[in-house]
Amino acid sequence: MAIVYLNGDYVEASQARVSVDDRGFLFADGIYEVTPAYGGRFFLMDRHIDRMLRGLCALRIDADTSGLTEVHERLLVENGLTSEPISIVYIQITRGVAPRTHAFPATPVPPTVYAYAKAFHRPDPARWGAGFEAITVPDRRWARVDVKTIALLPNVLAQQAAVDAGVDDALFVRDGIALEGAHNNFFAVFGETLVTHPLTNVVLPGITRGLVIELARESGIAVEVRPIQVEDLVRADEAFFTGTTTEVRPTVRLDGRDIGDGRVGPVTRRLFDALLERVERHASGG
Ligand code: PLP
Repeated sequence: MAIVYLNGDYVEASQARVSVDDRGFLFADGIYEVTPAYGGRFFLMDRHIDRMLRGLCALRIDADTSGLTEVHERLLVENGLTSEPISIVYIQITRGVAPRTHAFPATPVPPTVYAYAKAFHRPDPARWGAGFEAITVPDRRWARVDVKTIALLPNVLAQQAAVDAGVDDALFVRDGIALEGAHNNFFAVFGETLVTHPLTNVVLPGITRGLVIELARESGIAVEVRPIQVEDLVRADEAFFTGTTTEVRPTVRLDGRDIGDGRVGPVTRRLFDALLERVERHASGG
Protein backbone atom coordinates (compact mmCIF):
# COMPACT_ATOMS: atom_id res chain seq x y z
CA MET A 1 0.00 0.00 0.00
CA ALA A 2 1.76 3.15 -1.21
CA ILE A 3 1.37 6.39 0.72
CA VAL A 4 1.68 9.57 -1.30
CA TYR A 5 1.76 13.24 -0.38
CA LEU A 6 -0.91 15.53 -1.83
CA ASN A 7 -1.38 19.16 -0.81
CA GLY A 8 -0.42 18.72 2.83
CA ASP A 9 -1.85 15.23 3.40
CA TYR A 10 -0.35 11.74 3.38
CA VAL A 11 -2.89 9.42 1.79
CA GLU A 12 -3.12 6.03 0.17
CA ALA A 13 -2.21 6.40 -3.50
CA SER A 14 -5.54 4.91 -4.57
CA GLN A 15 -7.35 7.64 -2.58
CA ALA A 16 -5.38 10.62 -3.93
CA ARG A 17 -7.46 12.86 -6.20
CA VAL A 18 -6.52 15.82 -8.39
CA SER A 19 -9.10 18.05 -10.09
CA VAL A 20 -9.70 17.85 -13.85
CA ASP A 21 -9.19 21.64 -13.75
CA ASP A 22 -5.62 21.21 -12.53
CA ARG A 23 -3.34 23.19 -14.85
CA GLY A 24 -0.87 20.34 -14.78
CA PHE A 25 -3.53 18.12 -16.40
CA LEU A 26 -4.77 20.80 -18.82
CA PHE A 27 -1.52 22.54 -19.84
CA ALA A 28 1.41 20.58 -18.34
CA ASP A 29 1.82 23.82 -16.37
CA GLY A 30 4.24 22.65 -13.71
CA ILE A 31 7.62 21.31 -12.77
CA TYR A 32 8.92 18.12 -11.22
CA GLU A 33 11.98 16.77 -9.50
CA VAL A 34 13.38 13.32 -8.72
CA THR A 35 15.73 12.97 -5.77
CA PRO A 36 17.53 9.74 -4.85
CA ALA A 37 18.10 8.35 -1.36
CA TYR A 38 20.84 5.80 -0.72
CA GLY A 39 20.35 3.72 2.42
CA GLY A 40 17.48 6.05 3.30
CA ARG A 41 19.66 9.19 3.14
CA PHE A 42 18.88 11.74 0.46
CA PHE A 43 21.81 12.39 -1.84
CA LEU A 44 22.61 15.92 -3.10
CA MET A 45 19.15 17.01 -1.95
CA ASP A 46 20.18 20.69 -1.84
CA ARG A 47 21.05 20.61 -5.55
CA HIS A 48 17.71 19.00 -6.43
CA ILE A 49 15.74 21.50 -4.32
CA ASP A 50 17.74 24.33 -5.82
CA ARG A 51 16.91 23.21 -9.38
CA MET A 52 13.25 22.94 -8.41
CA LEU A 53 13.24 26.49 -7.01
CA ARG A 54 14.83 27.78 -10.23
CA GLY A 55 12.11 25.94 -12.21
CA LEU A 56 9.32 27.46 -10.11
CA CYS A 57 10.88 30.86 -10.61
CA ALA A 58 11.15 30.37 -14.40
CA LEU A 59 7.45 29.39 -14.58
CA ARG A 60 6.44 32.11 -12.06
CA ILE A 61 4.74 29.56 -9.78
CA ASP A 62 4.57 30.92 -6.28
CA ALA A 63 4.77 27.84 -4.04
CA ASP A 64 5.68 27.53 -0.38
CA THR A 65 8.64 25.18 -0.55
CA SER A 66 9.72 25.50 3.09
CA GLY A 67 8.50 22.02 4.15
CA LEU A 68 9.60 20.01 1.14
CA THR A 69 12.65 18.41 2.76
CA GLU A 70 10.37 17.04 5.48
CA VAL A 71 7.91 15.75 2.86
CA HIS A 72 10.77 13.81 1.26
CA GLU A 73 11.89 12.34 4.59
CA ARG A 74 8.40 11.42 5.71
CA LEU A 75 7.55 9.66 2.43
CA LEU A 76 10.47 7.28 2.99
CA VAL A 77 9.22 6.56 6.51
CA GLU A 78 5.57 6.13 5.47
CA ASN A 79 6.58 3.70 2.73
CA GLY A 80 9.07 1.66 4.76
CA LEU A 81 12.01 2.76 2.59
CA THR A 82 14.41 4.07 5.23
CA SER A 83 16.68 1.01 4.90
CA GLU A 84 16.19 0.51 1.19
CA PRO A 85 19.53 0.51 -0.72
CA ILE A 86 18.19 2.96 -3.31
CA SER A 87 14.88 4.79 -3.44
CA ILE A 88 13.62 7.90 -5.17
CA VAL A 89 11.12 10.61 -4.36
CA TYR A 90 9.22 12.16 -7.27
CA ILE A 91 7.67 15.54 -6.58
CA GLN A 92 5.52 17.61 -8.90
CA ILE A 93 4.24 21.15 -8.42
CA THR A 94 1.65 22.60 -10.78
CA ARG A 95 0.18 26.10 -10.93
CA GLY A 96 -2.99 24.73 -9.33
CA VAL A 97 -6.69 24.36 -10.09
CA ALA A 98 -8.59 27.03 -12.03
CA PRO A 99 -11.08 27.25 -14.92
CA ARG A 100 -9.21 26.74 -18.19
CA THR A 101 -7.74 29.91 -19.65
CA HIS A 102 -4.24 30.13 -21.06
CA ALA A 103 -3.13 33.07 -18.92
CA PHE A 104 -2.42 32.51 -15.23
CA PRO A 105 -5.52 32.56 -12.98
CA ALA A 106 -6.41 36.23 -12.38
CA THR A 107 -6.82 35.45 -8.69
CA PRO A 108 -3.88 33.27 -7.68
CA VAL A 109 -4.73 29.72 -6.57
CA PRO A 110 -2.64 27.43 -4.38
CA PRO A 111 -0.24 25.25 -6.37
CA THR A 112 -0.89 21.51 -6.42
CA VAL A 113 1.93 19.60 -4.73
CA TYR A 114 2.11 15.85 -5.24
CA ALA A 115 4.92 13.46 -4.28
CA TYR A 116 5.55 9.75 -4.04
CA ALA A 117 8.44 7.49 -3.05
CA LYS A 118 9.50 4.14 -4.43
CA ALA A 119 12.41 1.72 -4.39
CA PHE A 120 14.83 1.81 -7.30
CA HIS A 121 16.90 -1.13 -8.53
CA ARG A 122 20.02 -0.62 -10.61
CA PRO A 123 20.73 -3.11 -13.41
CA ASP A 124 22.70 -6.14 -12.23
CA PRO A 125 26.46 -6.00 -12.88
CA ALA A 126 26.32 -8.51 -15.76
CA ARG A 127 23.73 -6.42 -17.59
CA TRP A 128 25.70 -3.22 -16.95
CA GLY A 129 28.93 -4.92 -18.01
CA ALA A 130 27.49 -5.92 -21.37
CA GLY A 131 26.70 -2.27 -22.14
CA PHE A 132 23.54 -0.64 -23.49
CA GLU A 133 22.32 0.50 -26.90
CA ALA A 134 20.90 3.81 -28.04
CA ILE A 135 19.42 5.43 -31.11
CA THR A 136 19.51 9.07 -32.17
CA VAL A 137 16.22 10.94 -32.47
CA PRO A 138 15.50 14.47 -33.73
CA ASP A 139 15.11 16.98 -30.90
CA ARG A 140 11.70 18.57 -31.30
CA ARG A 141 11.43 19.95 -27.77
CA TRP A 142 10.82 23.58 -26.83
CA ALA A 143 13.64 26.07 -26.31
CA ARG A 144 13.73 25.92 -22.46
CA VAL A 145 14.51 22.29 -21.66
CA ASP A 146 16.85 23.55 -18.94
CA VAL A 147 13.63 23.91 -16.91
CA LYS A 148 12.47 20.54 -15.59
CA THR A 149 8.83 20.92 -16.62
CA ILE A 150 6.25 18.13 -16.68
CA ALA A 151 5.72 18.84 -20.42
CA LEU A 152 7.57 15.73 -21.54
CA LEU A 153 5.73 14.55 -24.64
CA PRO A 154 8.78 14.75 -26.96
CA ASN A 155 10.76 12.82 -24.33
CA VAL A 156 7.97 10.24 -24.08
CA LEU A 157 7.93 9.78 -27.87
CA ALA A 158 11.74 9.59 -27.99
CA GLN A 159 11.88 6.92 -25.29
CA GLN A 160 9.12 4.98 -27.04
CA ALA A 161 11.12 5.17 -30.28
CA ALA A 162 14.00 3.55 -28.36
CA VAL A 163 11.68 0.85 -27.01
CA ASP A 164 10.24 0.25 -30.49
CA ALA A 165 13.80 -0.10 -31.82
CA GLY A 166 14.59 -2.62 -29.06
CA VAL A 167 17.25 -0.38 -27.46
CA ASP A 168 17.70 1.29 -24.09
CA ASP A 169 18.14 5.01 -24.67
CA ALA A 170 17.30 7.80 -27.11
CA LEU A 171 19.84 10.55 -27.85
CA PHE A 172 18.38 13.89 -28.92
CA VAL A 173 20.16 15.46 -31.91
CA ARG A 174 19.58 18.99 -33.15
CA ASP A 175 21.48 20.69 -35.98
CA GLY A 176 23.95 17.81 -35.99
CA ILE A 177 24.74 18.18 -32.26
CA ALA A 178 24.26 15.32 -29.78
CA LEU A 179 22.50 17.01 -26.84
CA GLU A 180 21.20 14.62 -24.17
CA GLY A 181 18.96 11.60 -23.68
CA ALA A 182 15.18 11.43 -23.26
CA HIS A 183 15.71 11.32 -19.48
CA ASN A 184 19.46 11.60 -19.01
CA ASN A 185 22.55 13.58 -20.00
CA PHE A 186 25.11 12.34 -22.51
CA PHE A 187 28.90 12.06 -22.40
CA ALA A 188 31.42 10.81 -24.96
CA VAL A 189 35.07 9.92 -24.41
CA PHE A 190 37.61 10.78 -27.12
CA GLY A 191 41.01 9.33 -26.25
CA GLU A 192 41.52 10.34 -22.61
CA THR A 193 39.08 13.25 -22.67
CA LEU A 194 35.52 13.29 -21.40
CA VAL A 195 33.17 15.57 -23.37
CA THR A 196 29.63 16.74 -22.65
CA HIS A 197 27.35 19.52 -23.89
CA PRO A 198 27.55 22.87 -22.04
CA LEU A 199 24.71 23.97 -19.76
CA THR A 200 22.53 26.05 -22.04
CA ASN A 201 18.79 26.16 -22.76
CA VAL A 202 19.04 22.95 -24.85
CA VAL A 203 19.94 20.48 -22.08
CA LEU A 204 18.76 19.86 -18.55
CA PRO A 205 21.34 20.76 -15.90
CA GLY A 206 21.52 17.18 -14.60
CA ILE A 207 22.62 16.77 -10.99
CA THR A 208 24.36 13.50 -11.92
CA ARG A 209 26.05 15.23 -14.88
CA GLY A 210 27.51 17.81 -12.48
CA LEU A 211 28.66 15.14 -10.03
CA VAL A 212 30.26 13.03 -12.79
CA ILE A 213 32.22 16.06 -14.01
CA GLU A 214 33.45 16.62 -10.41
CA LEU A 215 34.37 12.94 -10.04
CA ALA A 216 36.23 12.99 -13.37
CA ARG A 217 38.24 16.05 -12.37
CA GLU A 218 39.04 14.48 -8.97
CA SER A 219 40.28 11.34 -10.79
CA GLY A 220 42.51 13.39 -13.12
CA ILE A 221 40.32 12.79 -16.20
CA ALA A 222 40.32 15.78 -18.56
CA VAL A 223 36.84 17.24 -19.12
CA GLU A 224 35.77 19.38 -22.07
CA VAL A 225 32.37 21.01 -21.94
CA ARG A 226 31.51 21.67 -25.58
CA PRO A 227 28.97 20.59 -28.21
CA ILE A 228 29.54 17.12 -29.70
CA GLN A 229 28.93 16.70 -33.44
CA VAL A 230 26.93 13.50 -33.84
CA GLU A 231 29.09 12.57 -36.85
CA ASP A 232 32.17 12.67 -34.59
CA LEU A 233 30.70 9.89 -32.44
CA VAL A 234 32.02 7.34 -34.95
CA ARG A 235 35.44 8.28 -33.58
CA ALA A 236 34.41 8.19 -29.90
CA ASP A 237 36.08 5.56 -27.75
CA GLU A 238 33.29 5.43 -25.18
CA ALA A 239 29.91 6.99 -24.47
CA PHE A 240 27.50 6.95 -21.57
CA PHE A 241 24.34 8.53 -20.19
CA THR A 242 23.95 9.94 -16.67
CA GLY A 243 20.92 10.60 -14.51
CA THR A 244 19.37 10.01 -11.12
CA THR A 245 17.84 6.70 -12.24
CA THR A 246 20.46 6.11 -14.94
CA GLU A 247 23.50 6.67 -12.68
CA VAL A 248 26.30 6.04 -15.24
CA ARG A 249 25.05 3.84 -18.08
CA PRO A 250 27.50 2.77 -20.78
CA THR A 251 26.36 2.99 -24.41
CA VAL A 252 28.24 0.50 -26.57
CA ARG A 253 26.14 0.80 -29.75
CA LEU A 254 24.54 3.85 -31.31
CA ASP A 255 22.21 3.55 -34.31
CA GLY A 256 23.41 -0.03 -34.78
CA ARG A 257 27.14 0.83 -34.88
CA ASP A 258 29.67 0.02 -32.20
CA ILE A 259 31.05 2.87 -30.13
CA GLY A 260 34.80 2.29 -29.84
CA ASP A 261 35.35 -1.46 -29.69
CA GLY A 262 31.73 -2.09 -28.73
CA ARG A 263 32.62 -2.83 -25.12
CA VAL A 264 32.28 -0.86 -21.89
CA GLY A 265 35.41 1.30 -21.69
CA PRO A 266 37.78 2.12 -18.81
CA VAL A 267 36.76 5.77 -18.32
CA THR A 268 33.07 4.83 -18.03
CA ARG A 269 33.96 2.06 -15.57
CA ARG A 270 36.13 4.38 -13.47
CA LEU A 271 33.43 7.01 -13.27
CA PHE A 272 30.73 4.46 -12.39
CA ASP A 273 32.99 3.03 -9.67
CA ALA A 274 33.67 6.54 -8.36
CA LEU A 275 29.92 7.23 -8.28
CA LEU A 276 29.24 3.95 -6.45
CA GLU A 277 31.96 4.71 -3.93
CA ARG A 278 30.50 8.18 -3.34
CA VAL A 279 26.91 6.97 -2.84
CA GLU A 280 27.96 4.02 -0.68
CA ARG A 281 29.99 6.35 1.54
CA HIS A 282 26.96 8.63 1.72
CA ALA A 283 24.64 5.69 2.58
CA SER A 284 26.89 4.67 5.47
CA GLY A 285 26.83 8.18 6.92
CA GLY A 286 29.97 9.66 5.30
N1 PLP B 1 18.16 15.20 -19.05
C1 PLP B 1 16.82 15.01 -19.03
C2 PLP B 1 16.01 15.39 -20.23
C3 PLP B 1 16.21 14.45 -17.89
O1 PLP B 1 14.87 14.26 -17.86
C4 PLP B 1 17.01 14.08 -16.78
C5 PLP B 1 16.41 13.49 -15.58
O2 PLP B 1 15.23 13.33 -15.47
C6 PLP B 1 18.40 14.27 -16.85
C7 PLP B 1 18.93 14.85 -18.01
C8 PLP B 1 19.31 13.86 -15.73
O3 PLP B 1 19.17 14.73 -14.62
P1 PLP B 1 19.54 14.21 -13.15
O4 PLP B 1 20.96 13.73 -13.21
O5 PLP B 1 19.39 15.42 -12.31
O6 PLP B 1 18.59 13.12 -12.83
